[in-house]
Amino acid sequence: MSTPHLAARLQGFGTTVFAEMSALAVATGSVNLGQGFPDTPGPPEVLDVARAAIGTPLDQYPPGPGLPVLREAVAAHVQRFRGLAYDPDTEVLVTAGATEALAGALLGLLDPGDEVVVFEPLYDSYAAGIAMAGAVAVPVPLRPPVTDGVGADPWTFDPAELRSAVGPRTRLVLLNTPHNPTGKVFDRAELELVAEVAREHDLLVVTDEVYEHLVFSGSQHVSLAELPGMRERTLVVSSGGKTFSTTGWKVGWVCGPAELVTCVRTAKQFLTYVNAGPFQPAIAAGLGLPDSYFGQLAADLERKRDLLVAGLAAAGLPVVSPQATYFATVRVPGDGLEFCRELPHRVGVVAVPMSAFYLAEHAELGLDLVRFAFCKRDEVLAEAVGRLSA
Ligand SMILES: *Cc1c(COP(=O)(O)O)cnc(C)c1O
Repeated sequence: MSTPHLAARLQGFGTTVFAEMSALAVATGSVNLGQGFPDTPGPPEVLDVARAAIGTPLDQYPPGPGLPVLREAVAAHVQRFRGLAYDPDTEVLVTAGATEALAGALLGLLDPGDEVVVFEPLYDSYAAGIAMAGAVAVPVPLRPPVTDGVGADPWTFDPAELRSAVGPRTRLVLLNTPHNPTGKVFDRAELELVAEVAREHDLLVVTDEVYEHLVFSGSQHVSLAELPGMRERTLVVSSGGKTFSTTGWKVGWVCGPAELVTCVRTAKQFLTYVNAGPFQPAIAAGLGLPDSYFGQLAADLERKRDLLVAGLAAAGLPVVSPQATYFATVRVPGDGLEFCRELPHRVGVVAVPMSAFYLAEHAELGLDLVRFAFCKRDEVLAEAVGRLSA
C-alpha cells in the first residue's frame, strides 16, 4: 500500500493550535481562556425539554430539513429580532451547528476556482470550508485600533481594500458579525458598504451571526439581510450553541431564499443528513424565551468582559475591549504563539494566538496578538486575572 497523504485541498489544515493549548492547560493545571465555551449550564427551560425528549421517538432521525417545531421557532425568532419573514417550510434549514450550515453553503454554492471575499482574521472553519469547495479565499484585512491601555474603538477595514478584493471570479462574500475573534460588531454604515459591493457585482452573501445576542451596551447587531436588496442574495447562519450555552449540542440553522437554501440542503443531506433529534425541540423552546432572557445573557457577559479587560490592562497588556462575543484581544511584546506557549508555565493561564485566525500566507498580520475568552464563571475570571497580575 502506498503511504496515505492528506488530500491536496486540505494541505495546511493540520491540527489546530486550540488542541495544543487545551492540552497545555490540562498538563499545567492552567485556567483555560483559550477555547470559547461557557462553563455554566444553559437555561433550564431549554435543558428540561431535551431531557424529556430522550427516550421518545425524537431519538430517531428527524426530518431532513429539521423538526417543524424548530423551523417555526427559527422563523418566529428572526421575525422578532430582525424583522425578517422566512417561510419555515422552504426558507429555513436546520443543520449540525453553524459549522455545517457554513460548510453546506460553501459546498452547495461554489464551483472550483470561485473566489470568496472574507474579512481577516477569520473563524478557523472558513478557510477549510472554502478549500474543501475548491474555491479561493480572498482576505480583506480588519485592523485593530492603536491603544496602550484599554481600547474602546472597534477594529476597522478600508473600503478600498474591500472593493479591490472583488474580481471576475468572486462569487460570494462570507461575513461574520458579531465577529470572532475580534469582538467587532459591523455597524450599519459598514454593512451598507458590503451590501453595495454585493449588489453592484451580483454576489451572494453568507453571514455568520452566531453571536447575534452576545452584544454589549453601545452596539447593535444588524443582519445584512435587513438591508435593501439583500434578503434575496443572503443566507443568514446562526446556532443555539452560543445563545443557550449548549455548544456541544450542535443545533444550527440557515435562513434565506428557497433557491439558496435548497443548494445548502443538497450538500447538507450528504454531510450529516440530520442530527440532534432530542435537542431540536429544546432549542425551539429556547428561541421562544422572552426578550429578558437574551438581554440578561448579554448583560452577564458584559460584566465578565469588563472583569477580564480590566485585569488584562492591569497586567500591562494593551487590550481592545470587544463590542460583542466571548473574546478580548491583547497585543503582546513579541511573538503571540511563543507568548501562549509560555504563559501556562509562567502564570497558569491559557490563551490562543491570533495568528491561528489568519490565512497561512498572512500569519504575520496577527503575530503579536493573543485572544482571551471571558465566557467563564466570575471566580474563574478572577483567578485568571489574579494570576496574570502576578
Ligand atoms: C462557535 C462559532 C461557530 C460554530 O458554531 P456551531 O454551532 O458550534 O457549529 C461558527 N462561527 C463562529 C464565528 C463561531 O464562533
